[in-house]
Amino acid sequence: MPQNTYLRQKILINRIKQIESKFVKIKILGTRGEIEPSTPYHKRHSGILIDNKIMIDIGEKEFLKYKPKAIFITHLHPDHAFFVRLKKIQNIELLKKLNIYAPEKEDFDFINIISKTKTIENYKITPIKTEHSLKVKSQGYLIEKNNQKIFYTGDLFWIKKENQKKLKKVSLVITEASFLQKNGLIKRHKGSPPFGHTGIPNLINFFKPFTNNILFMHFGSWFYNYGAKKARKKLKDMGSQNNINIVVGYDGQEVNLKKNIKK
Ligand SMILES: [Zn+2]
Ligand SMILES: [Zn+2]
Repeated sequence: MPQNTYLRQKILINRIKQIESKFVKIKILGTRGEIEPSTPYHKRHSGILIDNKIMIDIGEKEFLKYKPKAIFITHLHPDHAFFVRLKKIQNIELLKKLNIYAPEKEDFDFINIISKTKTIENYKITPIKTEHSLKVKSQGYLIEKNNQKIFYTGDLFWIKKENQKKLKKVSLVITEASFLQKNGLIKRHKGSPPFGHTGIPNLINFFKPFTNNILFMHFGSWFYNYGAKKARKKLKDMGSQNNINIVVGYDGQEVNLKKNIKK
C-alpha cells in the first residue's frame, strides 16, 4: 500500500476512535434480583460499569476485577453491595483502597457518604433520592458526560416530585424489573410509610416523559418463570405499545450510547 494511503487510513481510524470515545459505553455486569432462580445470562446480582471506569452497584465480589476508579452504591442491600452479605468483611484492605460511595455508611468505614454531585474526570455523578426500603437509604445516580445522561435507579417504588427535577432528557434510564404486574409489590406495615418495588408498567409510565430508552435489569422470578426468551418478547412488546425503546439487559452485555439507543 502506498505510504500516504496508509497514513490517511491511520488518521481516519484515529478520528473514528476519537468520535466513538465521546459516547458512553456501558457494560451490564449482573441482571438478577435478590432471588433464587438463575440462568446463564441472568445469574449475577446488580452492577454496571461505565467506560471501564465507574461502577454502579457491586452485587458480586468478582466485579472487583474490573478495578473501577470509583464505585457508587444505590443502597446497602446485598444484591447491590456484596459485602453486606458477608459476616466478616474479608478483603477489607482491598475495599479500603477503593473509592466507594453510598447514601449511608452503617458499619462500613470504607464507605464515603455521597449526597451531592461529584465530578470524576469528565463525568458528573449526581445522587437522586429514591423510595424503596424502610431500613436502608436509597438513591439512583445520574451520570453525565458530553451531553449524554444516564440514570441508574437501583430498586424503587417511587421518586418524590422534588427529586424528579434533574430527570430531563435522559439518554438512557437503567432500572429494575422485579415485578411484571402493575404496582409491583409495595407493602406497608401498620402506620409505616410504604416500601418495596413498583411494577414494570408503572416504571415505563413514570420514565416515559424523561427518556426514549429504558434498559431493564434486576429481574424478579417472573422473568425466570416465563423463560428468558418469552420474557424478553413481553418487555419488547410493552416498549412498542408505549413507543419507547426497551433494552432487555443480560450479564456481560455491552451497550453503546451511539448505536443502541433511540434519539
Ligand atoms: Zn435489589
Ligand atoms: Zn433493595
